[in-house]
Amino acid sequence: MNLLDFDIDRLHTALQARHCSAAEVCRAALATIEQRNPALNALLSILPDRALKQAADTDARLAAGAPLRPLEGVPIVIKDNQCLAGTRTTCASQMLANYMATYTATAVARLEAAGAVIVGKANLDEFAMGSSNENSAFGPVRHPLDPNRVPGGSSGGSAAAVAAGMCLAATGSDTGGSIRQPAAFCGVVGVKPTYGRVSRYGLVAFGSSLDQIGPLTRTVRDAARMLRVMAGYDEHDATSSLHAVPDYLAELSGDADTDLRGWRIGVAQEAFGAGLDPAVELAVRQALKTFEALGATLVEVSLPRLGYAIADYYIIATAEASANLARFDGVRYGYRAPDVTTVHDLYALSREQGFGPEVKRRILLGTYALSSGYYDAYYLKAQKVRTLLRRDFDRAFEQCDVLVTPTAPTPAFKLGEKTDDPLQMYLSDIYTVTLNLAGVPGMSLPCGKSGEGLPIGLQIVAPAFEESRMFRAGWALEHALLQ
Ligand code: GLN
Repeated sequence: MNLLDFDIDRLHTALQARHCSAAEVCRAALATIEQRNPALNALLSILPDRALKQAADTDARLAAGAPLRPLEGVPIVIKDNQCLAGTRTTCASQMLANYMATYTATAVARLEAAGAVIVGKANLDEFAMGSSNENSAFGPVRHPLDPNRVPGGSSGGSAAAVAAGMCLAATGSDTGGSIRQPAAFCGVVGVKPTYGRVSRYGLVAFGSSLDQIGPLTRTVRDAARMLRVMAGYDEHDATSSLHAVPDYLAELSGDADTDLRGWRIGVAQEAFGAGLDPAVELAVRQALKTFEALGATLVEVSLPRLGYAIADYYIIATAEASANLARFDGVRYGYRAPDVTTVHDLYALSREQGFGPEVKRRILLGTYALSSGYYDAYYLKAQKVRTLLRRDFDRAFEQCDVLVTPTAPTPAFKLGEKTDDPLQMYLSDIYTVTLNLAGVPGMSLPCGKSGEGLPIGLQIVAPAFEESRMFRAGWALEHALLQ
């Protein structure tokens, strides 16, 4: 049994018809992990005993005639910055190399309550800071199609695990593109929900006003199903929204749902500017033609401040990171430097030895932006720009139902290609960071291949809490591209 032949719908049909058991599915996932993980390094923990027990529970339920829960028997991988009680949650950092989670993140608990089988924890860029997975303290993740390329980041382990058939779905976290960009690089679907849609309780914080947990899956329908399970208010996260969670799957079934007549798809010229790889531009423009063929109208809109988004993001995200990471001081939990004699040395050496170079760079940048004398010039200014960016989206959505952009300016790049130049690495986040600043949801889905056969991702953006639109448009496109 090969998980690459399945999506959740197909798996559920097979489970229901007793063509396979949840235990068989789980063993297939574990076998693929055993075979491919040594080279890919996508998973930091593998949880065979736990997973087989969950699968056995599912088989017992089904034998007793219980109905399928939404994620019954689905092998899932969790990004290793999300807590799962009794297992390691490392954030791919030496700082938390031995940290055992004492509680489970709300989003993860909801997946388990829906019947998911958690097979492992995924590698990532340290504390989710990066765009290539080369910042992991436990080694980079390799692209499933080409070992010399990166899978994207920071949820690179999650995307690679789904693309390699180690699981059917994974969770990621997205502060500036960390779900969507690796989804694009690996040829899977990735969703960053509206800020506040999914609880952040149990997600190790990076940029608290930007972070969201979301799904990586093989199909748009699977992403819709998984988000429905994870989303919703949580009393443990004051920023989680009370908005009701719609049935995202409701409009993703019949042929009528592929009809986009009356839809207005916004295209912003600024999203097709310098630095965009010609193969990516071609694939996205062809997808726009497909949208037209499905009945939608293309509307030209403008995002005039897109050019400020990267600078804005790298001030706000680093400022928030510097505050969030202050808790790692060698005292309460995490790495503690040995053989120190003063409190100052304890703090300084624990952080010096526990954090990797990119995390230190972010803490330095963020602390600077927040420091007295520079706060007004950097942090306060960045907050004002953030408001203007949000208004750009408000204005664009007066003219269209969803926006379409490339997810990333290039397909997956080579390992080492951008590591010497952090600015080059940061620039690859141009299309994704803006959504986190504005708080709006976005989805990446595959829309073609480069000349070298590498996947290309297209991003669909919707107004806040209108994920349903994004799923509907994405599902229609996915359907059309499969014809
Ligand atoms: N690549 C971006 C960064 O390095 C986004 C990371 C993320 O979304 N967690 O900050």
